[in-house]
Amino acid sequence: MISFGPVHTTLDFSAAGINAGNLYLDHSDDRHAASLIPVPVIVLRRGEGPTVLLTAGIHGDEYEGQIALRRLVHDLPLAELTGRIILLPAFNAPAVRAARRVSPLDGVNLNRAFPGAPDRGPTAAIAGFVMEHLVPMADFVLDLHSGGTTGLYADQAFLSLPAEPRLRAKGIEAAAWLGAPLTVTIPLEPDFGDFDGAVLAHGVPFLSSEFGGGALVSPGSLARAVAGVRRVLHWTGVWRGDCAAPGTRYVVPAPGGRLLAPRAGLFEPAFDVGQEVAADQIAGRLHDVDEPLRPPLDLRFGAAGVVVNRYRAALVPAGAILATVAGTVAPETL
Ligand SMILES: [Zn+2]
Repeated sequence: MISFGPVHTTLDFSAAGINAGNLYLDHSDDRHAASLIPVPVIVLRRGEGPTVLLTAGIHGDEYEGQIALRRLVHDLPLAELTGRIILLPAFNAPAVRAARRVSPLDGVNLNRAFPGAPDRGPTAAIAGFVMEHLVPMADFVLDLHSGGTTGLYADQAFLSLPAEPRLRAKGIEAAAWLGAPLTVTIPLEPDFGDFDGAVLAHGVPFLSSEFGGGALVSPGSLARAVAGVRRVLHWTGVWRGDCAAPGTRYVVPAPGGRLLAPRAGLFEPAFDVGQEVAADQIAGRLHDVDEPLRPPLDLRFGAAGVVVNRYRAALVPAGAILATVAGTVAPETL
């Protein structure tokens, strides 16, 4: 048995074949005086080779990745593996079961709880278990996200660029093999509490991604996620499938590229994710909910580029990020 604070598992991560079990979170609250909340984990192992950790469901209402990893368990022939794949398809399992972004147990966003702690609540304990026991086993970590209930994304890799050259180069290369149409790159933010920063600080190369969103399952985004994960597995050497790197378009968020709702209202967009837009182009109109005679407010893009994400719902609060525009950058300049 291995444990970290209130989380433990008896799963043997070194056993050959396909083995499934749970991380168990020992938790006591109003609903259950005492319970062991399961977080499913699957290990595929054949022979000696690299270990890849695949994760989805850090945010419980993001589904393409959760389904892509579940499909992989059934579709990837064990005979084609050399090494080990560890899958956490519902990383924040309490949030997954509640169809929520954050944990219903403590209201914490798992992607701000890293590197975790044994004594700061259930979400930090799950983060800490994975950092303490699973990340050290891994040669590469791929984390799958989607837009969730309030967002829609153009299918993309999301690459936090560390200063360390090897980790930086590995991330850029992994994005080319994931092969999403876009790769959004940002400088790594230290002490942000996200999985990206914690894994990279541990010296393990890492790539995140965003496929689809809206708490839906887009067949196109799911297909791109499934194919992309397989290509990354091939690149790491753990799966010998026949594929090539399709490449990707690297972009950076443009200065002034965040379109904010200046007030609450009903947003009528004039664009979709993945669309090329010009600076000062009309992005849409914001209608007043309570005063139909009040003229709608024209909103314009503040930068040129490609729309990488958008707010999903029509009813938007003041300050909502309605869209993010990013500009192309040459990979050799990253
Ligand atoms: Zn997410």
